[in-house]
Amino acid sequence: MLKLSKPLLKWYEEKGRSLPWRVSPYDLKIGKKPDPYKVWVSEIMLQQTTVGAVIPYFNKFIKQWHNVAELSKANQNEIVSFWAGLGYYSRARNILKCAKEIVDKHEGEIPAEKEKLKNLPGIGEYTASAIRSIGFQKSEITIDGNIERIIVRLFKIETPIKFSKNIIQNKAKLLFPKNRTGDFCQGLMDLANIVCRPKKPVCEECPISNFCKSFKDGVTENIPVKAPKKNKPTRKGFVYFIKNNDDKILLERRPDKGLLGGLLAFPSSDWLEEEPDLIFPFDAHWFQPIYKIKHEFTHFKLELILIIGTISKFHSKKTNYEVFDLYSFQENQLPTLMRKVFRKGKKFILQNL
Ligand code: SF4
Repeated sequence: MLKLSKPLLKWYEEKGRSLPWRVSPYDLKIGKKPDPYKVWVSEIMLQQTTVGAVIPYFNKFIKQWHNVAELSKANQNEIVSFWAGLGYYSRARNILKCAKEIVDKHEGEIPAEKEKLKNLPGIGEYTASAIRSIGFQKSEITIDGNIERIIVRLFKIETPIKFSKNIIQNKAKLLFPKNRTGDFCQGLMDLANIVCRPKKPVCEECPISNFCKSFKDGVTENIPVKAPKKNKPTRKGFVYFIKNNDDKILLERRPDKGLLGGLLAFPSSDWLEEEPDLIFPFDAHWFQPIYKIKHEFTHFKLELILIIGTISKFHSKKTNYEVFDLYSFQENQLPTLMRKVFRKGKKFILQNL
């Protein structure tokens, strides 16, 4: 067992970040309890998203839905629209499903047992451990991507992280103390953010550098070893921005399942590896394509050709179409890709029509 918990916890008490879902070590000592609801919401938002981006969304979310019971009564469009801009929208659908299930099966209380937590929608091994250790102060080894980076550096593990998961898990057992594992894990998260950063770790400020093999051997910049990158495929398609004579624009609510599920978006063609044929969704005055919108998802890159059109009146009876005023429309209702479409489309209209 490496005895680094003491210096790490001391550093966390002095230098740890103050975050809205957190209870500081000082407040824990005087009897304040963490709120598992806040810990759960924060952990879901933090999946694939940075702390800086999450904080404003988290504060707004907690203001709107104070607890599981209130959240369980929200409707899906509300939550998915709220999530616009955070990305990874299945999290939004799951957080609602999860709240409903907590109300139906656990009398509205987030369960503290690992297996019960893991049976809830959107909660896997890591999130269950984080809720237990941070929210319920149970003894639990919790390892996220940032903690993995610290571990591979401490033990100078020279294989890429994705091929070293078992080794990292075993090494973590040598680090985590039995008590205060929530503080310990949050201390590691902060260390990873402030000191043991992905690039150029600030080892001279590290409270556990005495234990770090990479530091001793002068190889901290080379670890973690990068796994060879796979090239992402590129998909192509068309996206349609259309305005009528009353300055209204047409959007659609995407189906619940699939990419950008349940979100507002501009109508588009299928996104295929070969550029699809250009088929207009309905008759209108369509302009020559002039803009290409590029976006990157986790598994593929996307290139959409923006087609702008005007029409006197919208006639389509499609039930998932929704009409908005071009000038008062708030783009934060849209996912990032569609914000790019909105900005380009509006710019074209302002400059040309
Ligand atoms: Fe990270 Fe450097 Fe500390 Fe090692 S000494 S854990 S590389 S910050």
